[in-house]
Amino acid sequence: MHRSIATVSLSGTLRQKLEAVAAAGFDGIELFEADFINFKGTAAELRRITGDLGLSIDLYQPFRDFEGMPEPQFRRSLDRAERKFDLMEAMGAPLVLCCSNTSPLAVNDPALAAAQLHELAERAARRNLRVGFEALAWGRHTSLYGQAWNIVKQAGHAHLGLILDSFHTLSLKDDPAGIAGIPGDKIFFLQMADAPLLAMDVLQWARHHRSFPGQGDFDVVGFFEQVLRAGYTGPLSLEIFNDIFRETPNRRTAVDAMRSLLYLESEARERMATAKPSHPVQPLQPLRVELFNPPPAPALSGLSFIEFAADEASAATLATLVEQLGFRRIGKHRSKAVTLYRQGDINLIVNAQPDSFARQRFEAHGTSVCALGVRCDDPLAAVGRATAMRSQRHDSPVGPNELRVPAIVAPGGNLIHFVPEALGANGLYEADFVLDDHGAEAGDAGLQRIDHVALGLALDQLDTWVLFTRAVLGLEPGESLELADPFGLIRSRGVANAERSLRLVLNVSLSQRTRTARTLSVTGGGAVHHIALSCTDIFDTAARLRANGTRFVPISDNYYDDLATRIDLAPELLARMREAGVLFDRSPAGDYLHIYTESFEGGLFFEVAQRVGNYDAYGALNAPARMASQAQD
Ligand code: MG
Ligand code: MG
Repeated sequence: MHRSIATVSLSGTLRQKLEAVAAAGFDGIELFEADFINFKGTAAELRRITGDLGLSIDLYQPFRDFEGMPEPQFRRSLDRAERKFDLMEAMGAPLVLCCSNTSPLAVNDPALAAAQLHELAERAARRNLRVGFEALAWGRHTSLYGQAWNIVKQAGHAHLGLILDSFHTLSLKDDPAGIAGIPGDKIFFLQMADAPLLAMDVLQWARHHRSFPGQGDFDVVGFFEQVLRAGYTGPLSLEIFNDIFRETPNRRTAVDAMRSLLYLESEARERMATAKPSHPVQPLQPLRVELFNPPPAPALSGLSFIEFAADEASAATLATLVEQLGFRRIGKHRSKAVTLYRQGDINLIVNAQPDSFARQRFEAHGTSVCALGVRCDDPLAAVGRATAMRSQRHDSPVGPNELRVPAIVAPGGNLIHFVPEALGANGLYEADFVLDDHGAEAGDAGLQRIDHVALGLALDQLDTWVLFTRAVLGLEPGESLELADPFGLIRSRGVANAERSLRLVLNVSLSQRTRTARTLSVTGGGAVHHIALSCTDIFDTAARLRANGTRFVPISDNYYDDLATRIDLAPELLARMREAGVLFDRSPAGDYLHIYTESFEGGLFFEVAQRVGNYDAYGALNAPARMASQAQD
């Protein structure tokens, strides 16, 4: 499809926006009028700049408060339109977006609206331009696409068509199924936007909180599917009003934007290919456009390793820390200053190799996680998927007889390695490490798997990560929660695979003063903020860890008094939790018992977790207890 984006969706000057959009591989733009008004150049100059960048100007917008007006206003609007048409001719924009009238002067008379739009289309036709009519969700008399379509149909002019915008339909919970019945060539333009589900005024929602497809909660794929079923072949465009995008570096936004369209196309393609026969679909003409068809999302089955960037000194400190956590050193890398620690199925790698990727990360961010290893059925296909979805692959130097583990760069710069599942638990490590495990399991604390990894993200990275984990890794986001830190709010969202063997938690600080935010100021964001390891008997594991010298965040007695009033617990269990400092959460599906270690170098910490039954969350309700305790250190 011809992929386009509205200039309002990005930060920067118009010139910077165009360069970012072109670099991300878009075919065209929707020119937002304000961007042109503030541009220091003529329409002809803009035409030359966009042409040089290989971009078309697909749409000029918006043209407001036109249809259904009393005669004097209508006449003035026609004059106004002629001036816009002059500009459009000069810049080479073939289509203007006329959005439904919001003026209190507008008359509720579809026949009048149709007649006036017919006149506008007639004026446009004289210059071989076209007019698209869009129903705004807050339009005074026209707020639904069905109403707009009736007016367009009634006007009956070849140069007048419909513009669809997923936000207006989905925010009003209008049914998009009717779109499939509209002739595809009467749909002149398609704007796609997602959004989080918010209980707020639709105008505020639309102007500040839209997001790219795949970042929000709307069924944008279902909407797009109806437009394709109509036989639409025009541009696929993004029109995103978002307060955060207005501040985010536009190159990054443009990559997210392109990734969201590729994701949308591939999801729609898959959904239409697998539509069940019982599904009440219109007899479908063969698709008239080619949709993006990337390699399928990889089947991931958990985290195989976590790699830390360190120097010689911090590698020694980390060694003490992980040994206190019950890990044993089982090998040295064949060619690099890299050490492997293991407990249960958990592999921790400490990388102190000079002149390495890890050392660059260490120099930039201090001792921190620099890579995750994800178990995967087909690592090459996983990298193929990732690069198709506009992630970068990463190739590191490989020594003789070492395995090349395909890797990609995650947002923020850390690596994600795809570890072939076929190698079994030790295959990778046997190839790359000289194993010198003496079998000493004396310190083992019963930690078995990596339950989840929590990332601290800057506010403008959350949407990026939600889309990255969805489109590149095939994970699905859970609900978004707001947690109270003593110094501000934290927004937290889990993403996981269907089997729940791979879980990431995305945490964003809405305040500059929380510990999460302070971690970010050190790391620059996208940093691992804590690592949760699972066990089957948290009391036994916590006791062994304490005996090893691990220190846990103390929990207030008041927490347990309150817990007893909230949840019906056996007194013995409550007493054990109080004594051990174990936190508790219960859902209808199961229980979650967990405890947090003190932070390492003021930042990263570990969580020990025990899931009981099918508990599917992360004990978020207890995060404030942890954050308050850390603040009182
Ligand atoms: Mg729109
Ligand atoms: Mg956690």
